[in-house]
Amino acid sequence: MLARTPDQEFSAWLIAFDAAMARRDIDAAANLFLADGFWRDLVAFTWNVHTAEGQKSIRLLLSDCVTRAMPTSWRAVGPARLTGDTIEGIAEFDTAVARCSAVIRLKDGKCWTLLTAMTELKGCVESVGQQRPNGTPFSYRIGRKTWRRRRDQEKQELGTTRQPYCVIVGAGHAGLALAARLGRLDVPTLVIERRECGSDTWRNRHESLSLHSPCWFDAMPYFPYPESWPLYPSKDQFADWLEAYQKVMDIDVWNGAECRRAEFDEVRQEWRLDIARGGYPIELRPKQLVLANGLFSAPKMPDIPGMRRFKGEQRHAGDPRTGGLQAADYTGRRCIVVGSGTTAHDVCAELWEAGADVTMIQRSPTIVMRQERIIDVIAELYGDDAQARGITTEMADLLFASLPQRVLLEMQRQLTAQVRQQDAAFYAKLEAAGFLLTFGEHEGGILPQILRNPSNYYIDVGASELIAEGYVKVRSGVGVEALGERSVLLNDGSELPADVIVYATGYEVGAPGGQMLPYEMVRKVGRIWGLGSGIKNDPGPWEGELRNMYKPTQQPGLWFCTHGISQSRLYSRVLALQIKARQLGLDTPVYKLAEAHHGG
Ligand SMILES: Cc1cc2nc3c(=O)[nH]c(=O)nc-3n(C[C@H](O)[C@H](O)[C@H](O)COP(=O)(O)OP(=O)(O)OC[C@H]3O[C@@H](n4cnc5c(N)ncnc54)[C@H](O)[C@@H]3O)c2cc1C
Repeated sequence: MLARTPDQEFSAWLIAFDAAMARRDIDAAANLFLADGFWRDLVAFTWNVHTAEGQKSIRLLLSDCVTRAMPTSWRAVGPARLTGDTIEGIAEFDTAVARCSAVIRLKDGKCWTLLTAMTELKGCVESVGQQRPNGTPFSYRIGRKTWRRRRDQEKQELGTTRQPYCVIVGAGHAGLALAARLGRLDVPTLVIERRECGSDTWRNRHESLSLHSPCWFDAMPYFPYPESWPLYPSKDQFADWLEAYQKVMDIDVWNGAECRRAEFDEVRQEWRLDIARGGYPIELRPKQLVLANGLFSAPKMPDIPGMRRFKGEQRHAGDPRTGGLQAADYTGRRCIVVGSGTTAHDVCAELWEAGADVTMIQRSPTIVMRQERIIDVIAELYGDDAQARGITTEMADLLFASLPQRVLLEMQRQLTAQVRQQDAAFYAKLEAAGFLLTFGEHEGGILPQILRNPSNYYIDVGASELIAEGYVKVRSGVGVEALGERSVLLNDGSELPADVIVYATGYEVGAPGGQMLPYEMVRKVGRIWGLGSGIKNDPGPWEGELRNMYKPTQQPGLWFCTHGISQSRLYSRVLALQIKARQLGLDTPVYKLAEAHHGG
């Protein structure tokens, strides 16, 4: 008998899965998965962001969700691809209320990984492309409002005489991407931003910062960057872009407005938000509240004996009160940079370029990976070549999301092992200069670090060479014990002369609601971010998804959204669909609502 082609094998699996679900034959559907298979669902079946690991959990998901979801019409989209022993293909299907996509990977005829993702609620198409608004009047009538007048009136009314359905706190890229999506779905949304401009988060970072991820990976929804843009735009270019985005996507933002307190009115099932806008208090009463106020809140400043005694200059590298660090002010001065993550490296390089004498204090080992190694991996899906092969950003997002976190972590571990071999000479040179290296928990490299404990890594864009060559000095395995009037005392007993100390010691991570929400609610919702890997700063139990991110929380109507730029593009849609469904009053029973862990 002739062996089946990947397309035939893929179609056969799809037909069998479709048929089993149509018969509501849960056992037959579950048996189409490998015993150690995965099913990651983005809202299509579970109204949740959830991964079922192993056939037993998959069976549970099927038996709880299939009858309600009523999936039908599974059809392959494009050809299936054979890579090694795995067949990978994309499909589409419908549920009772939505259109959805799927990515399926088969091994030996059974499903190893399945991603199902809602892409559109039926009867609720985003107003883009063929559904774009027309813009012309069609027919003139007395009293008709032009776009400008209508928008001015809407802006005036929103939050005063008309309550927004959804309030997003924070106009960084995560908040704006979500607001843009909700706008296309016709959900009245207001963004509250305490700064004069949300993009100031980026402007206030150190001067030499450019995005570490390439612009084709970092596109925002609906509005691509100019084709002439650099691969790695500077932080100021990106900040300009965010300002333009807010305007062009017609997002309603109150700048200079701080959300001070958020309480949930159980009787009216809505929020009561205390907003200080331009010094005046205003109360808002939305049904949905999204905290997009960033994972990195206040700069983390160490408390070191002698800080008051020190006669030189001290500053945190990311302190919004002092604005971005201007390296040119430090020419000829002895600068100590405390820290060894991304900001510390960038700042050291910046100060060295400005002619300062620079020493980095590295307390503990740091993950370093050269930028081109990371780019090689994402370019396969998102790069110019991939686009030329017909892989759209949307398709790439789907493929990227289709890797369950456990699989992704393992792939990253293998990749990191390869990179260590490829760049052995580079790492040897760094270590010879005294720099301490690690490859993270379970040797997973940078991406797992970001998902579990976003700190202490550097995507090398050149500063490692300065360290390896000795242009930037490094004192490693030591901490700062105290400060003298013009010196830094290390805990190995040595003393470094210093005119300037820059603390690149990171930010407080992980409590986006802490300041605003009542204490009991913070406890009820539990920890934000992390996968539950059971390692330092990512305590277990394993959840397999980012805790409380872009999915329902223990507090109805409360959502969290923050991520890197590329992931904000994908998950903003996941969240927008959940919010729209609630606005429509659809039944949205959440399968396996995550329990709260490590609250308060
Ligand atoms: C040095 C550095 C480099 C980075 N480089 C990259 C990169 O290259 N690519 C990438 O994808 N990611 C990068 N990141 C990570 C991440 O994308 C950023 O931290 C990003 O700013 C997060 O976006 P956000 O919209 O979630 O939050 P933020 O940009 O932090 O925005 C949150 C907003 O909420 C506002 N806010 C907070 N509290 C309130 C309140 N109570 N009321 C009203 N407003 C409030 C804040 O003023 C702020 O404007 C980097 C991070 C750092 C620190």
